[in-house]
Amino acid sequence: MHARRQAKRGGLGAALVLAAVGIGGCATRVEAPQAPIAGHETRAVTIAVTVATNARGLPAVSPEVLGDWVGLAAVEFAHAGIELKVASVTYMRSSEARLKTRRGRRALAARTDSALPVAFVHGMGPRTRGVWTPREGVVLVSGTAGATTLSHELGHALGLDHQTDPSNIMCSCQRGASPTFSATQRRHLWAAVGASRF
Ligand SMILES: [Zn+2]
Repeated sequence: MHARRQAKRGGLGAALVLAAVGIGGCATRVEAPQAPIAGHETRAVTIAVTVATNARGLPAVSPEVLGDWVGLAAVEFAHAGIELKVASVTYMRSSEARLKTRRGRRALAARTDSALPVAFVHGMGPRTRGVWTPREGVVLVSGTAGATTLSHELGHALGLDHQTDPSNIMCSCQRGASPTFSATQRRHLWAAVGASRF
């Protein structure tokens, strides 16, 4: 019951973030001369979120921060003509989510077959903020990650490689204040979503 209530708050957080950013701003940017998807239909990608909780029941990421991060990713994907949907938010004890083992990560991936599994965890090592594990098909994001780490790892999951420009979301560097996907990357993402089962 508690987890369900938290999940609802997370969803509300994302909705509030989207409202704050403003749909008008998105539309303006999408219609800019370099828009990659002019005249193309909007596609959708669905993620299934798992949030690890520690022995004291504390989640790796608060519902508010989760809402912020998902909302930010939703805006960036909207610029690529993609609607980012959240199928579910599930809370899982860290003892059940053994993220350092392939089997544990696969257990997360097995939770759904129609959504991309995204797990928020308490920590993955001193310098790792997020990772896409192609063999298990899971995006892992540290609770101490940056605001654009989720977008970055979703980019990997949809086939994007690293860039060196700090203003690009796919830079593995310390990214700038408001990194974005490039027009080329947005075209790739849109095409990749069309070919994926998510
Ligand atoms: Zn990366």
